[in-house]
Amino acid sequence: MKLPICTTDARIGVLCPKCEARLERGEITSVDVEVSFILVKAVRTIPQLDSIALIRAYEAEGELVLVLGSGDARKLLSDPDVIRKLRDFLGRRVWITEEGDDRRFIEYLLHPLHVLTLNTVWLPDGSRTTRVLIAGRPSSKLPLDIEKAKKIINDIKGLELEIRFERPSRKKGIVPRQYRAGHGRKDRGGNWMGRGTTGSRGAGVPGSSG
Ligand SMILES: [Zn+2]
Repeated sequence: MKLPICTTDARIGVLCPKCEARLERGEITSVDVEVSFILVKAVRTIPQLDSIALIRAYEAEGELVLVLGSGDARKLLSDPDVIRKLRDFLGRRVWITEEGDDRRFIEYLLHPLHVLTLNTVWLPDGSRTTRVLIAGRPSSKLPLDIEKAKKIINDIKGLELEIRFERPSRKKGIVPRQYRAGHGRKDRGGNWMGRGTTGSRGAGVPGSSG
């Protein structure tokens, strides 16, 4: 496992003067240090961590984002159990992504949603937005919180994301619920009694004829 600090420092839980200086210069943060200390312990329970490189760790929206080395994200994301265990060790929800360009960062962060296209669009006011097209359709059962993902990407990458889905939402048509038996009877009875007419509706009512 590679960490933003020396692995030895992480094992003993104390920074060497070199890492201490990097922390002071702001090259690494206390979140990098805190996460490194924990991951080095977690590797006994999560052996998949042994083959990854943690590049940086960020705190965003009260959750943790681990930016891994190129090719490492799938090693953890492929096993939902690993993500659960990481959450237990780190005490917060954990998002996994990779270093590299913005597209790669976004694609992994949005896993297991599948990004079809990603375009930067310049708006008339000079600002830019990143338009992301996701495969499938939106649903209330999406495996991740899209709004939170957007905020995290904005916090870390400074990108405004506009997420669209390939297909429209499967809206349920306004199918009226079937009246419950009791409800229906009450309505019909009320109408018949209230009007007091001898219309054809009364014909089938028990006791109305005799
Ligand atoms: Zn060190």
